[in-house]
Amino acid sequence: MIAALLLAAQVAVIQPAVITVRGQNGEAKIAVAEKLSGPAIRLSALSSVVPVAIDSLGGGRYRIMLAGIEFFVADQAPFMEVGDRVVPLATAPFIDGGDLFLPLQVLTEQLPRAASDRLSYNVAKAELLVLTAPVAGPTAALAVPSRSRPASPPAPSAKRTTRHTGKRRVVVDAGHGGPDNGMSGPLRGGSFRVYEKHITLAVSKRLAAILRSRGVDVVMTRTTDTLIALSDRGRIANQRNGDVFVSIHVNAANQRWPRPEAARGFETYFLAEAKTEDARRVERMENESVRFETEVTAARDDPLSFIMNDMAQNEHLRESSELASMIQASLGAMHPGPNRGVKQAGFRVLVTAFMPAVLVEIGFGTNIDEARFLTQPQRQHEIAVAVAEATMSYLEHYERRVGLAGR
Ligand SMILES: [Zn+2]
Repeated sequence: MIAALLLAAQVAVIQPAVITVRGQNGEAKIAVAEKLSGPAIRLSALSSVVPVAIDSLGGGRYRIMLAGIEFFVADQAPFMEVGDRVVPLATAPFIDGGDLFLPLQVLTEQLPRAASDRLSYNVAKAELLVLTAPVAGPTAALAVPSRSRPASPPAPSAKRTTRHTGKRRVVVDAGHGGPDNGMSGPLRGGSFRVYEKHITLAVSKRLAAILRSRGVDVVMTRTTDTLIALSDRGRIANQRNGDVFVSIHVNAANQRWPRPEAARGFETYFLAEAKTEDARRVERMENESVRFETEVTAARDDPLSFIMNDMAQNEHLRESSELASMIQASLGAMHPGPNRGVKQAGFRVLVTAFMPAVLVEIGFGTNIDEARFLTQPQRQHEIAVAVAEATMSYLEHYERRVGLAGR
């Protein structure tokens, strides 16, 4: 719908030929290198205005201190490590003419996000503002003089330990809540009635408990029967630095289908433009929650932040689609309904999450058998176990791959 418009705006907004870096030593205009892979910045060009130290760790890995912020990248690997988080990048850092180039987004998005107290990027002005001078504190004390280390491999075990001590964090989002019941069913169910918001909360609580029991840190967007705006769910996820966002929902058949009461099965969505009419139906249905939200909430979503969110999320499409596949496979082993597959649609709840994000429709509340299935505590537990197992495998798989990429 508005995707084409967004794309045009992105091209205009985020591909400056030059960015201004304003630091403690004045300001500098830094040329953006237009590479085939995308816009990139020669890191050493920043050193006239911002303190930059580049440490070669061997094996193509680099430790960088920029304005007192420490992060790690590797040549040709589309990831960066900052704090104890591994962040996927749209393109990979690379070496050209002996110089390290970073994707532009490292400066315009990832570092400002990781250290918002020190860096801020103004999209309209294409200006990176270094807010405070780096202080001689604990971070600075960690700095190792450039090239003072031997060019041997960088004690990879130490690096990996750091990553693993950073606890994995999953954001669990129970769909709907409060005045927003979500779907209700089943069709031809007589006095038997289920509401989506109760099922999603029950399954989400179990999912959270299982993940916690496996050492994962869990943030729930809601734990009671209350309404959380769709945009706030993503915001909660971002503020709490989630690694993965999983939203739980219950499906409803289209009344115009030949036998709507017969529709069954489970499907998992990741964020993209809706590809099929059926995906558009689910997208419309889940986005309906917006009408329960106040105007105040809606007004906070200015167009620019929406564009930026959309971009940030795009980096995670591949990850999200992979997580969706794993959840489908895992549910397939226990769910009586058909596997309706991995699908894509433009869910508002996923748009604002800066991390791999999926929305799981755990079954059709409109079908009487599935409505019963979805309300049985034992079945809710099994669904939660299936989603938790897929999420755990995804996290492990992802970390393994990042480990390999950094070598
Ligand atoms: Zn829903």
